[in-house]
Amino acid sequence: MARLAVLVSVVAAAAVGGSVGLRPIGVGEPGVGDTYFPGAGNGGYDVTRYDIELDYDPPTDRLTGRTTVTAVATRTLREFSLDLKLPATAVTVDDRPAIISQLDGELRITPAEPVAANSAMRIVVGYAGVPSSIGGGSELGAGPWQRTPDGALGAGEPEIAAWWFPANDHPSDKAVVAVTVTVPDGVEAISGGSLLGGPEPQPDGRDRWRWSADEPMAPYLAFVAIGQYDFVRRDTPFGPYLAAYQRGPDPLSMAIARRSVERTPEVVDVLDDILGPYPFGQLGGVVTLASFPALENQTRPVYGLGMFGGIGDPDAGFPVVVHELAHQWFGDSVSLARWRDIWLNEGLATYFEWLYVERTGGDPAAVTAQRLYQVLGDPGAESFWRVPPGDPGAGNLFDEAVYVRGGLAVQAIRAKIGDPDFFALLRAWVDERAGGNATVDDFLATAERVSGVELDDVAREWLVEPDRPPSPPGGS
Ligand SMILES: [Zn+2]
Repeated sequence: MARLAVLVSVVAAAAVGGSVGLRPIGVGEPGVGDTYFPGAGNGGYDVTRYDIELDYDPPTDRLTGRTTVTAVATRTLREFSLDLKLPATAVTVDDRPAIISQLDGELRITPAEPVAANSAMRIVVGYAGVPSSIGGGSELGAGPWQRTPDGALGAGEPEIAAWWFPANDHPSDKAVVAVTVTVPDGVEAISGGSLLGGPEPQPDGRDRWRWSADEPMAPYLAFVAIGQYDFVRRDTPFGPYLAAYQRGPDPLSMAIARRSVERTPEVVDVLDDILGPYPFGQLGGVVTLASFPALENQTRPVYGLGMFGGIGDPDAGFPVVVHELAHQWFGDSVSLARWRDIWLNEGLATYFEWLYVERTGGDPAAVTAQRLYQVLGDPGAESFWRVPPGDPGAGNLFDEAVYVRGGLAVQAIRAKIGDPDFFALLRAWVDERAGGNATVDDFLATAERVSGVELDDVAREWLVEPDRPPSPPGGS
């Protein structure tokens, strides 16, 4: 996410019946045990894919859904949960009706027969409701599902899935996501991955749009954008490019946004040189009129129009594009194992804004870091240093310090181990961990292994201590 983020949502830690140490045999927990968000995700199974089918009515924000969750039980399950805030209407497990109950976004499912350990299960969930009426997920006091003049946007971090599909909503459980949306004639519906079909006219006069992403993703990286959009499509060396720009009353601002987003293949080319192959089969972007910062949705980041500059500085938003594209490696391909490791996403994506400038003929990242360190020595910036990016706290997940001090921490590691080992570290990290999940400790261990340099002091100074380090990253 880009750092003007305001969508910090705090998952209600309402772990229904999950507070005792012993769990009843065969019962999946209503949370994966994330230290920041105990209610996030669920225990007892791994999802392999989501097939999400939606019917959406923009004038009423009425969403009717049917999602098939294909999962493998990791132990015998006579009861388990999915995260879903919209009211469920019916659930089957392996084609047999299940008993359900729903409270605080947890959909509790009791299959007709227990699911045996290590066996696949197919859960079909029917549901319907008005997603924008569901609050409780954001500092703004409203849910992360947003209506726009002619549609809606379902995108957010750390959670959004439960507003539009039933999920094991934690980044540790990545799965393939396919999204099919039926909307009124003349309205576009956009998601990640490939456009398999659309607009496909339906017998009732509505249009259907079908999208599918090939590579597994963390549930928060799935999105849906509905409204009137203009598409730009072309082939690139990294796969088919598709960007979508929402039509609205300010075409000049949208043209300025488009100027930056259309540079996506050029940015991926630079990042690919530094990091190795772009991790996905498609690329692109979406610019929405919703009040939204920007988020690294897998294959197709979503950008709020407000993130881009005006006529006086038309490239002001370009670093946001670099940031979200760096996340395709840091966050999307290599995902968090738990939310406290958010530095792996935001510290590295912010650093790549600086590194991109360095690689394209501008100031070295070390100079940018030095300048920021000096500016942040101002007495007015004292509170900035109180948030340690290595463990910022659930309420500070998107604090400025996670981004900027997080980027300074990356520069400190680079200065300590030297450029050859630093770039070898980046490549080793995204290669060895591609498609997986990892922690800050894993990153530091990889850095120490690649460089042979012990990094405890650097990590403590830049990631852990709630104080401004006495000298700039790499300085003395
Ligand atoms: Zn970010």
